[in-house]
Amino acid sequence: MKIIENHSLKAFNTFGIDKKSRFFTQAGDLDSLKKSLLWAREKGLQVLILGGGSNVLLTQDFPGLVIKIELKGIQVIQETSDEIWVEVGAGENWHDWVLYALKHNWAGIENLSLIPGTVGASPMQNIGAYGVEIKEVFESLNALDRESLDIVSFDSEACQFGYRESIFKHELKDRYVITSVVFRLQKEPKINVEYGAIQETLKKNGVKDLTIQAVSDAVVEIRRSKLPDPREIGNAGSFFKNPTISHEQFKSLKTDFPSIPGYPVDSGVKVPAGWLIEQAGWKGKKFGEVGVHAKQALVLVNYGNGDGKAIQELAQKIQDSVLEKFGIQLSPEVNFI
Ligand SMILES: Cc1cc2nc3c(=O)[nH]c(=O)nc-3n(C[C@H](O)[C@H](O)[C@H](O)COP(=O)(O)OP(=O)(O)OC[C@H]3O[C@@H](n4cnc5c(N)ncnc54)[C@H](O)[C@@H]3O)c2cc1C
Repeated sequence: MKIIENHSLKAFNTFGIDKKSRFFTQAGDLDSLKKSLLWAREKGLQVLILGGGSNVLLTQDFPGLVIKIELKGIQVIQETSDEIWVEVGAGENWHDWVLYALKHNWAGIENLSLIPGTVGASPMQNIGAYGVEIKEVFESLNALDRESLDIVSFDSEACQFGYRESIFKHELKDRYVITSVVFRLQKEPKINVEYGAIQETLKKNGVKDLTIQAVSDAVVEIRRSKLPDPREIGNAGSFFKNPTISHEQFKSLKTDFPSIPGYPVDSGVKVPAGWLIEQAGWKGKKFGEVGVHAKQALVLVNYGNGDGKAIQELAQKIQDSVLEKFGIQLSPEVNFI
């Protein structure tokens, strides 16, 4: 266990915010993870668990211990003629895991290609993209109880997955460290190209053979064309969740804003937050070192030396103006630290 003092977190969050942690360590195995947690407990320090830092906004220096999860390993634990169960270490890079599955022709996560971050964080907000969420391929996860230091297993029901939600963001926030995730993948692909953009890209590229590799390639191409690369401009992907409003509210908004997009979901109508933010006039706006991305209004950016607090304030102003214009309350997807 190597503890570093006053460590810059700039390289450990995709916003590239230059905040420090009082103490910093990396946990490559369970033993060092437990020792780090005990060390922090003895010193009465707060602990922040960090994966790839692609869904956090650092608004201040962290006064406790940051533990970066580096638990690795990919292991087949069960298989039948048409399905396979694979346990993946929490510190594995998500997209590397997608590539690994593609190489073995295991289907189910190809639509989730190129999402930044780690496997361990993927259940935190039930990551999703292009018509798929991980809950569809999720079997269970193992997590270390930060109090008892016991390993506990959670099945899908126990995780209470929702749209960009799980129990780990609510009742069990800061209670567990996810150490591995078990995925249930298909050997006979059930290809999901419901998303219009995937179909268009496959058509444009003249793809005839509809493989999971072709779907992944299309998703990667779309994402590269739409989303800013955090290595070039600091960001955390979608800053806000797409809100769901009632059918009545949607109908009334349609009268005032006839072009408002929306698609029905179980609890009402989901409206793209990016559209609302763009209509409220924020797209491409720059305020010193921070701003709203020029191509994608849902993405807040740090142009270089931006401060987390400035992004937090900008997010609040956007929320206020969307609420005023449309009567819709936006909720952040990003975790504020
Ligand atoms: C360019 C870009 C595009 C994106 N696109 C998408 C997208 O299409 N769909 C999507 O769903 N998300 C997307 N995201 C958000 C992000 O990639 C995901 O939320 C990802 O799962 C975060 O992983 P991470 O390892 O970086 O988590 P971090 O940012 O390190 O952590 C996120 C939260 O999870 C906690 N945490 C992390 N690891 C663990 C663990 N092992 N145990 C317990 N708690 C943990 C942290 O404390 C924090 O609260 C995007 C982000 C970027 C930058």
